[in-house]
Amino acid sequence: MIVKITTSGLCGSDLHLYEVLGPFLDEGDILGHEPMGVVEEAGSEVTEVAPGDRVVIPFNISCGTCFMCSQGLHSQCETTQVHAQGMGASLFGFTKLYGQVPGGQAEYLWVPFGNTLPIKVPHGPADQRFVYLSDVLPTSWQAVQYADIPPGGSVVVIGLGPIGDMCARIAKHLGASVIGVDLVPERLERARARRDGARPQRA
Ligand SMILES: [Zn+2]
Ligand SMILES: [Zn+2]
Repeated sequence: MIVKITTSGLCGSDLHLYEVLGPFLDEGDILGHEPMGVVEEAGSEVTEVAPGDRVVIPFNISCGTCFMCSQGLHSQCETTQVHAQGMGASLFGFTKLYGQVPGGQAEYLWVPFGNTLPIKVPHGPADQRFVYLSDVLPTSWQAVQYADIPPGGSVVVIGLGPIGDMCARIAKHLGASVIGVDLVPERLERARARRDGARPQRA
């Protein structure tokens, strides 16, 4: 399907493409892997979304139906795996290292697997309410799950950028005591503002 982009996040991972992964970047590559927007057109076999639907697009391109996807291992989707580079599933906007799929820093985005990949969200609330579903929220949620915090336990989050801050919010939401560590005053202030037993702020 073709999605008209309304918001596209910037990611700390994008910085890798300007630094250590720079050699994989080709002229004409379009970056951006945290997009959302409105379906402009859908292929004839797409039944789950229709033009006009509002969707968030996960950064990880997975078919949703192969063996790995059916085990919940979407980042190793067998349909989009980048064998040439020895990588897992393709990613939007992340160079030939991950399939050279054009990314979401654009007016329109081509999105495969229209029946299984997009996350349909309601019209109405601002984009900022949903756009983190693409990467920041699931990435942080997974990090907190991997930390395996025992009930009533505590966790140290090193770095309170977008992912670390979201990890802190999620861990707190799940009942953990959170110790956030960073050197940037504004980040510490943002975490501190949620210190006193408050539920996570709504974006
Ligand atoms: Zn990202
Ligand atoms: Zn798959």
